[in-house]
Amino acid sequence: MNESIRKRIFVIGGGISGLAALHYLKLRYQKCPEVEIVLLEKRSVPGGVIGTEMISDARFETGSNGFLNTQPLTFQLIEELGLKDQLIEAFPDNKVRFLCVKNKLYPLPANPLGLLSFPLLSAADKLALLKESFVKSKGRENETVHEFVSRRLSPGWAKMLADPMISGIYAGDAREIVLRDAFPTLAELEAEHGSLLKGLMAARKKGGGGKSLYSLSEGMGSIIHALYQKYQAHIRLNQDVDDIRKEANGQYLIRTDEQLYTADQVFLTVPAYAASDMLRAMDTRISDLLDQIQYAPVALVGLVCAKEEFVNLPAGFGYLKPSAEKSPVMGVLFEDQIFENRAATRQCLLRIMIGGMHNLQILKYSKEELIAAARKEVIQVLGFKGEPFHIFFQAWSNAIPQYDLYRHRIRPQIAEGLVQHPNFHITANYWNGVCVNDCLRSAHQTVADSQWILN
Ligand SMILES: Cc1cc2nc3c(=O)[nH]c(=O)nc-3n(C[C@H](O)[C@H](O)[C@H](O)COP(=O)(O)OP(=O)(O)OC[C@H]3O[C@@H](n4cnc5c(N)ncnc54)[C@H](O)[C@@H]3O)c2cc1C
Repeated sequence: MNESIRKRIFVIGGGISGLAALHYLKLRYQKCPEVEIVLLEKRSVPGGVIGTEMISDARFETGSNGFLNTQPLTFQLIEELGLKDQLIEAFPDNKVRFLCVKNKLYPLPANPLGLLSFPLLSAADKLALLKESFVKSKGRENETVHEFVSRRLSPGWAKMLADPMISGIYAGDAREIVLRDAFPTLAELEAEHGSLLKGLMAARKKGGGGKSLYSLSEGMGSIIHALYQKYQAHIRLNQDVDDIRKEANGQYLIRTDEQLYTADQVFLTVPAYAASDMLRAMDTRISDLLDQIQYAPVALVGLVCAKEEFVNLPAGFGYLKPSAEKSPVMGVLFEDQIFENRAATRQCLLRIMIGGMHNLQILKYSKEELIAAARKEVIQVLGFKGEPFHIFFQAWSNAIPQYDLYRHRIRPQIAEGLVQHPNFHITANYWNGVCVNDCLRSAHQTVADSQWILN
C-alpha cells in the first residue's frame, strides 16, 4: 500500500460518463499526489455503448455517431486529448432528412414555415401552424412531448413529426417522454416567447449558422481510445462491481468478483439497472427506485453496399419512420453521406436502427432475424438489389434510458435519498441527459460540485 495516498476516489463504469468523470477528476486533483483515482469497468474494453468497428474501409459506430456543436466542453475535451486534427464536420447534405411513410421518402423542409407545403400534414395541421403563435394554454409540469405538440399544434403533428423524432433520439414513445426533462430548451422557448414557432425563429436568428454535427475522422471510438491511452494506469477492466456498502466511518466498500476496494468518494456512472443491483444492501429504497428506470432496446445493422445497386438512395442524413408504420425499423442513417471516411469510394454504409419502445418484441429476435429485417427494409424503401459486401451488427437490450413519466417522478426521490450518502455521486446518461454532450457536461459539473464531506 502506498502510504502517501490518503484519499481514494473510485469511478464505477467506463463508458463516456465514467471516462469523462475520471478525466475531470484527474484535472481537479493534478497537484494532489495524496489523492488516488481509480476507474472500475466490467467489460474487457472501455467505452460502454460508444465504439467504432472497422471492416475494410467501412467504419461502423456501435452507439453515437456524432455530437452537436452546442457544448464547448466536448470540443475542449477533444483538444485536451490531442484529437483536434481528427475533428470533422458533417457534410452539408446531412441537413436533408426524410420521413418514410408507406415505403416512400418525403424530404423534411429545412425551416418550420416550409412545413406549410409538407404533403404528410393535413390542411388542418397546416392551419394549426399558422395559429400556433396565438395558443395561450400552458402545459403541465410533466407534460409529454405528444401532449405538448398536440396542444401547441395538433395531434397530426404529434403523430407525424414528434413521434419519429422521439424514436430517433430516445428510441422512445412520444406519449411517455416528458418534454421538460428531454427537451428543456423547447419548454424554455415556449415560456420565453409564448410560442414555439416564434421561439425557434428567434433562436435561429440568434444562433447565426445554427447547429452542426461533428465526429472524428476515425469515428467516435477515437475519443474512448484516447481517454483509455491517457489514463490506462488508473483504469481496471474486467471488474464487475456487484456490491457497494457504506462503512460506519463513512467510507464505501466496493466489491467486485475479484476484489474489495475501500473508497472515500464514489462516482457511479453505470446504467440505472446495474446501479440498482449494486446498491441493494446499501440503500434498498434508492435501489428500488433505480430499478424502475426503463431502457429501450436497440439493434443496429450496418450494411456496406455498392452505391450503384440502389434504385433510390437520395442525398441526405437518412430517414425516420413514424410508429404508425408498425415497422420494427425506426429509421436508417446514410452514414457515408453524413461523415467522410465511413466507406470506400462507390460504396455506402447504411446503419439500420431497429427496436425502440414501440418494438419491444425485438428482444426476442435472433441476430439473423434482425439482419433479415434490415435487409428487407433497404430493399423495400431504397430499392437495393444486390448483396452487401459486409454486415455489421450490434444489439443493446438496454440501449437508451427513457426520460419518461416514471423517471420524472423517480429522479427527485433518488436525488433526495442520495443526500444521506455523503461523497457518493451519480453521473450517467439517465441522470442529466442522454447525449454525449450531456454526459460530458454532467461529469464535469458533478466533479466540480463534489466536496469532501468529512465524517
Ligand atoms: C444506438 C445508440 C445511438 C446513439 N446515438 C447518439 C448520437 O448520435 N449522439 C449522442 O450524443 N448520443 C447518442 N447516443 C447516446 C450516448 O451515446 C449514450 O447515452 C452515452 O454514450 C452513454 O454513456 P454512459 O457512460 O452514461 O453509459 P454506458 O455507455 O452505458 O456506459 C456504462 C458503463 O458501465 C459499465 N458497467 C455496467 N455494469 C457494471 C458493473 N457492474 N461494474 C462495472 N462496470 C459496469 C458498462 O460495461 C459500461 O461500460 C446513442 C446511444 C445509443 C445506444
